[in-house]
Amino acid sequence: MPPRDLKIPEQRHPEKARRPDNAQPKKPDWIRVKAPTSDGYKKTHAIMREHKLVTVCEEAGCPNAGECWSQGHATMMIMGEVCTRACSFCNIATGKPTEDLDAFEPGRVADAVAKLGLKHVVVTSVDRDDIKDGGAEHFAQTIRAIRHRAPDTTIEILTPDFIRCDDSALEVVVAAKPDVFNHNLETVPGLYPEVRPGARYFHSLRLLQRVKEIDPTMFTKSGIMVGLGEDKQAVTQVMEDMRAADIDFLTIGQYLQPTPKHHKVDRFVTPEEFKTYEKTAYNKGFLMVSATPLTRSSYHAGDDFARLRAARIQKFGQA
Ligand code: SF4
Repeated sequence: MPPRDLKIPEQRHPEKARRPDNAQPKKPDWIRVKAPTSDGYKKTHAIMREHKLVTVCEEAGCPNAGECWSQGHATMMIMGEVCTRACSFCNIATGKPTEDLDAFEPGRVADAVAKLGLKHVVVTSVDRDDIKDGGAEHFAQTIRAIRHRAPDTTIEILTPDFIRCDDSALEVVVAAKPDVFNHNLETVPGLYPEVRPGARYFHSLRLLQRVKEIDPTMFTKSGIMVGLGEDKQAVTQVMEDMRAADIDFLTIGQYLQPTPKHHKVDRFVTPEEFKTYEKTAYNKGFLMVSATPLTRSSYHAGDDFARLRAARIQKFGQA
């Protein structure tokens, strides 16, 4: 059989190919972004290709790539470009990965971080349910490689849920001491069956709570998309649940539909509504909140990390 061409939508998402099309509504003015053309963008692009790295910015078709890459901020996606889940919102290619983990990848990520001169880096991955530890050791190796090669860079990881692994998988990742442990809840629990069918809301929540139990000094972060069909009360409940799990930092952004086969956009949440969510979240005790239409987990992550640290010092007197 010839290899899959991941640029062809039916081969990129075979499980979605037979779904009926969902019309893609016209984006409102507040969602428009500039085309990526700057020299900084081209430099980041060249470094990613030179190191044979995959980025979530490209794979997910992130609207902020022009802005982030101009400043060298790319979010590297480790463990391949094929995800073993099939979330209905996500544009990462899905299926059974054909390749083993690349033992040299942690070193290449670390080299790219050093070359880009990043103060803060975000590393994420596809889900690898086909690997016994879900890729936990590979994450840990990547964190250690970055620490070694770029000791002044702070490290944020955005991980899978390790749902099919035993408890040691999470412990391995936390023991490598990233500065921020991020895992996205993605949506409200009522929408999990249609948005994130391979995951469980309370498992993800508990994962983040366990990070804090293992290492109370580690910052925890999580995010959801809005505009998928959730109501405001459910979003407020997610905030409550996150605070009960001691999560420090909440991100909320507008869901955008990558193709007609993906989950439909129920509505575009207005900038004013995002402001209200931000206010509500701060009132519930988050140290940091980012809630705007273009907020993504890794958007402005470096600046936000500095603010997060400052907020903790102000609240508890410790970094
Ligand atoms: S917001 Fe995150 S995923 Fe999007 S371009 Fe910026 S770094 Fe990449």
